[in-house]
Amino acid sequence: MKVGVVGAGIFGIAAALALRERGHAVAVFDQGPVPHPHASSTDVAKAIRRTSYASANDTYVELVERAARQWREWQTRFGTTVYHRTGGLTILPSFAPGSPMYESWRYLQARGATDAEVLSAPEVRARFPQFTVRDDEVGFYDGWRGYLESGRAVTLLARLARAEGVEIHEETPVLRVEDDADGGRVVVAHGVHSFDRVVVAAGVWVGRLLPHIGCHVEVTRQQMMFIEVENPGRFVGGTLPVWSMEPDTDSWYGFPLLREGYVKVSKDLLGEVVDPDVDRSSTPEFVEQAMVFLHRRIPEMAAGKVVGSRSCLYANTPDDHFVIDWVPGSQRILVAGGGSGHGFKFGGSIGAVIADAVEDKDNPLGRLFRIGERLRAGDRRQSRVARGFAQPVATAPPSPQ
Ligand SMILES: Cc1cc2nc3c(=O)[nH]c(=O)nc-3n(C[C@H](O)[C@H](O)[C@H](O)COP(=O)(O)OP(=O)(O)OC[C@H]3O[C@@H](n4cnc5c(N)ncnc54)[C@H](O)[C@@H]3O)c2cc1C
Repeated sequence: MKVGVVGAGIFGIAAALALRERGHAVAVFDQGPVPHPHASSTDVAKAIRRTSYASANDTYVELVERAARQWREWQTRFGTTVYHRTGGLTILPSFAPGSPMYESWRYLQARGATDAEVLSAPEVRARFPQFTVRDDEVGFYDGWRGYLESGRAVTLLARLARAEGVEIHEETPVLRVEDDADGGRVVVAHGVHSFDRVVVAAGVWVGRLLPHIGCHVEVTRQQMMFIEVENPGRFVGGTLPVWSMEPDTDSWYGFPLLREGYVKVSKDLLGEVVDPDVDRSSTPEFVEQAMVFLHRRIPEMAAGKVVGSRSCLYANTPDDHFVIDWVPGSQRILVAGGGSGHGFKFGGSIGAVIADAVEDKDNPLGRLFRIGERLRAGDRRQSRVARGFAQPVATAPPSPQ
């Protein structure tokens, strides 16, 4: 088949590679350079974890474990490292049955995982003295967790895709996608490209091409900042794991020292709803708030120098699950996205799920992402609650971002 892919973020590039591997002729279109500086995939680091998927463990844990194997294989082909297994620590107010982390832990135990541990506050302090931990808090440490150098990974995957014969058209905004009896058409400024099937992997811009899907996707602005620390040895991967705080502490999270020479700090609590083309700078309030948090919880990090900050956008579906399915009423145009703030890590395995959908093959790992009854009229993510794949949990008051 001839397949057109709109968007060269992680969903689009992974789909293109998987489809090409199956012998299809694939052309990818991106509105900008690849990686696009405003794509959600273009970032210094994204976490890879197998926890917090309590309501859908079977799908996500299987997918992320497959993805991790593929990331390793890819980086062997790249000849450089993009996947760092540093371990990950979450600090929780409690570890109660029913909470996403507890249920994840039980699930991982049943699956035979031996590297996930629950730590008391004194144990957290002894192993990770960078953190200030309250006596009543609990640490959940998963040695499997780590991070991906996401922007570099997209660059390298695009190079791989080209080497495999995928055509990539940069600086080529797609104006419309059209469905006709013979296939799908991709309309760009200087012409129309015809395909048997078209995959729309346009991230937060999905509503521009598919408004009836986009109206269910809430785009939120998430801010981050970068700090040059004074004593880098205290923050290298392993000594400092990927870390996160539960929603009652505003869902702050961060990474160990990155290749770029700084650490990244961000917040998973949903930010304000914005237009996909919003300015990507950050607000002084965010930086101030982050510093207040760091002084309280990771004082040595707060002593460092802020060397940058920016925003990145989440494309949130009503239930936080991705959307990989034919656009309602079409068998030629497929939508793949709705990353909902957790999509990058699955880059190693989501391509096969998308390719199966394009080929109309049932893949049990793709069923969760079918549209079915998920996108009902008026159904939209309720912003300003923490994510968690369960009922919205009580959170701290909305941040003043
Ligand atoms: C702050 C932040 C932190 C995150 N942290 C994590 C994390 O720790 N772990 C994790 O797994 N995930 C994380 N995510 C989520 C992850 O980044 C996204 O789920 C994923 O990158 C989405 O990929 P995508 O391909 O759908 O979209 P994108 O990467 O945005 O790619 C979409 C592409 O489509 C192109 N495009 C759009 N419209 C058109 C058009 N009309 N014509 C041509 N091209 C077009 C764009 O230029 C872009 O390149 C985070 C996201 C953010 C914002």
